[in-house]
Amino acid sequence: MALSDLNREIVLQAIEEYDQAGRDTFLERYGYREARDYFIIHNGRHYDSKAIAGVAHRGVGGRPLRAAEFSGGAATVGKVLGDLGFLVTPRRDVSPARTLFDKIENLDTARSSNGQRKRHQPLTLLWAFGRAARRQGRLTPWDVTGAEISALINEFGLEDDRPNPEYPVLKLAHFGLWTLPDHREPPPSSGSPPLSWMRRNQPISGLREWVYDLVVQDETVRFQAAAYLLSTYFPDVDQNALLTRVGLNQADDEELTPPQDAHPPERRPTTVRRIIRDNALSRLIKALHDHTCQICGIRLLLPQGPYAEGAHIRPLGSPHDGHDVAGNLLCLCPNDHVLFDQSAIVVDDDLVVLDRLTGESKGILRTVTGHEVDTQYLAYHRNSYLRMNAASKQV
Ligand SMILES: [Zn+2]
Repeated sequence: MALSDLNREIVLQAIEEYDQAGRDTFLERYGYREARDYFIIHNGRHYDSKAIAGVAHRGVGGRPLRAAEFSGGAATVGKVLGDLGFLVTPRRDVSPARTLFDKIENLDTARSSNGQRKRHQPLTLLWAFGRAARRQGRLTPWDVTGAEISALINEFGLEDDRPNPEYPVLKLAHFGLWTLPDHREPPPSSGSPPLSWMRRNQPISGLREWVYDLVVQDETVRFQAAAYLLSTYFPDVDQNALLTRVGLNQADDEELTPPQDAHPPERRPTTVRRIIRDNALSRLIKALHDHTCQICGIRLLLPQGPYAEGAHIRPLGSPHDGHDVAGNLLCLCPNDHVLFDQSAIVVDDDLVVLDRLTGESKGILRTVTGHEVDTQYLAYHRNSYLRMNAASKQV
């Protein structure tokens, strides 16, 4: 029996024993030294991966393996445990979130003939994050996965993209974000083999367990990952439409309705109007800023939770025709939203906030990782003040 016969359940049993015994006792009991590299990160704890794999071997080989009987490196233990959905890393102090961001920031995506980055992998990930956000099953059969990712590539891919979902799925599997649990050795993600292999095997597949669990449990991680993919790969796409399309249009606490008798009826129209105006993209940006105003730093707390507004820098619709993209949005408090919309406040290209009435600086626009403001929209906003001013002088 070999390590490759391990399954997730017997690895979890070894982890449970490790928890009960404690690290020192567990390692001593089975003759292992403390690992210097390669740890399993599971439920916020780290475990010596070689010892866990060796002890888990008892479930398939009848007895635990001794440390000297096998190698504990990335190619052996790391691969086997990774294929079983565990996060295995060379550092014990790294968080699953940091590992996920490192991977998402380093996706190996090709470029089209005009230099744009191909969107197959980002679309596949956004689709899977949407399923996770809605608590849908992690693994799906190939006829579902293939059809849905193809449709997304057709809708949101580059013009010359072929809707071949085989490549991003295999690429993400080899990159450690995706898994095909019934197939330990899927083909490489290039050339023609993927097409026939997928057709023949019809694999079930999905995000690796640690990725899925993280995206389900941590809304901020989900939002930051989605925002990074949107701004990096979809600068000219209706990002709100894409978020809605993949089901990333709802915050976890959104089902919570405010207590009905807390608001006198005559005040409701305002609340309702704001909720209707609040789309998926604006909710994502506000969550990234933790509902903190980018101009004054205020975070309003209402009985039903924090409150901020998503403000388009270049307004949507005629005559401005701004885009619904993250780079065209600010997270503002209601006061600064009004001041900004009326151009009493403008922001220069260095993100210095200026009070138009006094000419004084109000400091630097606050920014967070994952949300980059596009200066072309700030320039449009500054110029629209000049246009407005000129028009009012003529009146
Ligand atoms: Zn403010």
